[in-house]
This record gives sequence, structure tokens and C-alpha cells, in this order.
Amino acid sequence: MERKIKLKTLNSHITCKICRGYLIDATTVTECLHTFCKSCLVKHLDEKNTCPQCQIVIHQSHPLQYISFDRTMQDIVYKLVPDLQENEIKREREFYKSKGLPYPKDNLPNPGEVPDEKANADAHAESDYHRADEQVNVCLECINSSLKTLKRGFIRCSAQATITHLKKFIAKKVLNGMEKYRDIDILCNNELLGKDHTLKFVHVTRWRFRDPPLRLQYRPRIDL
Ligand SMILES: [Zn+2]
Ligand SMILES: [Zn+2]
Repeated sequence: MERKIKLKTLNSHITCKICRGYLIDATTVTECLHTFCKSCLVKHLDEKNTCPQCQIVIHQSHPLQYISFDRTMQDIVYKLVPDLQENEIKREREFYKSKGLPYPKDNLPNPGEVPDEKANADAHAESDYHRADEQVNVCLECINSSLKTLKRGFIRCSAQATITHLKKFIAKKVLNGMEKYRDIDILCNNELLGKDHTLKFVHVTRWRFRDPPLRLQYRPRIDL
């Protein structure tokens, strides 16, 4: 018998308790078997030596030696959340490209991806300003009266656009200069969004079960 389960009911098992997004590079604490994104956990262990979830001491001085990549969990997440893997690979690739570095995973076999087609698609995307990309409808809401409200808060743009792109768009409109984009914070569900997140990623990880448009808020930057 086939049973259907709503992804929502599984979310707490496949999301990271630190960033609340779906697990990326799922990494498990070998002591307590709690799992987080690798980058979230490594950052946490920069300052602490405890599990962010159960507070168990992982190791007094070398906690990083007692965490491990959890392939099974990551495979489950990628199976359950369509597009997450593809999107994450794209994001990583762009990150390396922006640093002028070769993409390390290019040397690994990547089933289902034909390199030539991919290169063509990239070249194509650059020539048509990403109009052929998957598109996402976004509503940008101003949540601080010291900033102007956008005349047109509803926009439709490539799902590959990043939060930084949106910040530049908003800065250009309300701060009279794109170069002031770092002075803008963008939030979704009261959560500050990382500058390199694509809208696709935000949509999948923060808006999956809601109706369009994806609602984002902007405010002047607050240094925490
Ligand atoms: Zn995380
Ligand atoms: Zn734990």
C-alpha cells in the first residue's frame, strides 16, 4: 500500500535547528546524533564545544573531530525536497566563480548532468538576462517608516537572482544609489536572509507551503 505523507510533517527531521533551512551538507554530532548543516555547525563550534540542540559537550578541545558528514541524511533531504540539490550546486558553483576558483566538485561524477548542455544553458542565461530562467513572483514590503515604500512592490524575476540582487534593486529605488545596497536588510518570516541565497532557495526553504507571491520585507540594516 502506498502512503502519502506531507513534507511538512517531516520538516522538523530534515531541517537544521541553527538556520532553520533544509539541511545542506548534513553533518551529525557523533555523540548525540543531532544533525545540522556543515557550515552552521562548524561556525557554532568556532566558539563553543556543545551540541546546539541538546547542549551535550561534544569534546572539550577538539569538537570538530567528533562530527561527521551524514550522507544518508543528505540523500534523504535531497530526495524529499525537489530542486534543493540542483540549486545548491548552482549556488556553490557561483560562489567559486565569484572567487575566481575552479569548482572542486567538477571532478566528481555528476549523474544526470550533461556538461555541454549545462555550459550552453549558462551562456544562454547570460545573453538573455535570465529571462528564460524559472521565474518567481516576489512582493517586497517596507517594514520601516524611515525608508520609502517601493512604488511597485510586486516584481517577477529569475529564481536565480540572489538577495544581493534584490538589495541592489531596492537601494537603487529607495536610497537613490545601487552602491548603498549593503544598508538594506531583507527578511522572510521575520528571519534575516543571507546575501547569497537565491530566490529559488528562499522559496524552497522558507515559503514552500504558502501561496505565491513570495513575501519579503526590507528595512535599513541593523547590525546585530
Ligand atoms: Zn543550517
Ligand atoms: Zn545533540
